[in-house]
Amino acid sequence: MLTAEMIKSAALAAGADKCGIAPMHRFAGAPREMDPRLLFPEAKSCVGFVFRIPRGVQRGIEEGTQFFQYPSMAYGGINEIFAPQVLYQVGKLIESEGYEAFVYRNTGARGAVSDMDGAPGNTISPEEQIEVNDQARTATAHHRSVQFTRPVRPGNACPDLQFHFRLAAVACGLGEIGWSKLLLTPEFGPLQRVAFLFTDAVLEYDEMYSGKPLCRRCGACVRECPGGCIPPIGSGKTVRVEMEGKMIEWADTDMWKCYAYYTHAGKYYNPFVPREVWEENRDGALDLFSKEDVKADEHEVVKVYGALQQYFPSWVGYNMAKCGGCIRGCVSMLEKKGGCLEGRFEKPLRTGKAWKMDR
Ligand code: SF4
Ligand code: SF4
Repeated sequence: MLTAEMIKSAALAAGADKCGIAPMHRFAGAPREMDPRLLFPEAKSCVGFVFRIPRGVQRGIEEGTQFFQYPSMAYGGINEIFAPQVLYQVGKLIESEGYEAFVYRNTGARGAVSDMDGAPGNTISPEEQIEVNDQARTATAHHRSVQFTRPVRPGNACPDLQFHFRLAAVACGLGEIGWSKLLLTPEFGPLQRVAFLFTDAVLEYDEMYSGKPLCRRCGACVRECPGGCIPPIGSGKTVRVEMEGKMIEWADTDMWKCYAYYTHAGKYYNPFVPREVWEENRDGALDLFSKEDVKADEHEVVKVYGALQQYFPSWVGYNMAKCGGCIRGCVSMLEKKGGCLEGRFEKPLRTGKAWKMDR
C-alpha cells in the first residue's frame, strides 16, 4: 500500500531536501484561474518538494565577483535538472502502486493571468519582446501570460493553469512566506526552490508550519533591495491570504520594479554597465531607476531592457541576477542570534559590510 513515508523516502533518495504533503482541500478559496484542484479534479493529495539552494552560489554576488552561478545553478539547475529528476522518480513510484502522479515542475509565464501582477490578458515579457523587436520579427514573443487561451469545455479553467507555488509550499507544511514574499523554511531560510505533484492517492498529511515564526520582521529585505521594491514593515502594504484558518501575510512587493532591479540592479550595483550609460539615460529609458514618479510596468521595463541589453552578460536561459539583495539580507539576518539559520554554517554569509559601487 502506498504511504506518505514511501513517497518521502523516495523523494529524499532521489535528491529532494524535504518533502511535505497536503490534502487538496487546503486550496479552497484559491482564485479559479490559479486553483490547483482544477488541474486534476480526482487528486486527493499535493506533494511538495524542497530543493535547497547552496549558500555558496550566492557567494559571487555577495563578493561582487561572480554573477553567473546563482541563476544557472539555483534557477536553471534546480528547475530544469534536479527537480524534474525527483518528480520523475517519485511519480514512477506512485504510478507503480496504481495511482496517478500529475507532476508539476516549476514554470512561469504560461497562465491566463500574468505571473507578475495577476493582470488578465496579454502581458509581455520584456527581454523576449526585445528579441522579437530586434531580431525575429516574425516570431511570437514569449509573454508573462498566454494571449488567446480559452477553457476547452464549460467548467474548466483556461490552460495553462498555474498555481501559487509558495502558498502550495505552505499548504504542504514546508515553511512560511516571509515579509519579502520569499518562502522561508526552518532548514534553509530563503534558500530553496520547490516543485509539486498531485495524486489521487489518499495519504497521511502534514500539518502546516506552526513553530516559531520564521520571518523575524527585521526589514533586512526592505533595506537591501536596491530598488526599494519591498514596502517597509508596518506600512500596511501587504497581501493577505487565509488558508485553513492560518493567516498568511507578506509585503505587496512592486513586482515589475523588482523585474528591472533583479536583472539590472541600478547604477551602484551593476558592474557590467558603464557609469556614463546610467548618467546619460538616453531617451529617458532608465527613468525607472532615477525618478520616483515613474511607475514600473511592462512597457517601462521593456525600455530598460532595450537600453541595457547590450551590457547583459551571457544568458543562462534565465535572467542573470544582479541583486539578490533580499535573499542575501535575509540569510544574513536569519544566521544571527535566534534566527532559524543560526549555527548552520561555521562562518556567516556576511562578515563585513555589503558592497556598493562608488560612482
Ligand atoms: S530580488 Fe532584488 S530587486 Fe527584487 S525585491 Fe529582492 S532585492 Fe529587490
Ligand atoms: S529579511 Fe527579515 S523581514 Fe525580510 S523576509 Fe527575511 S526575516 Fe523576514
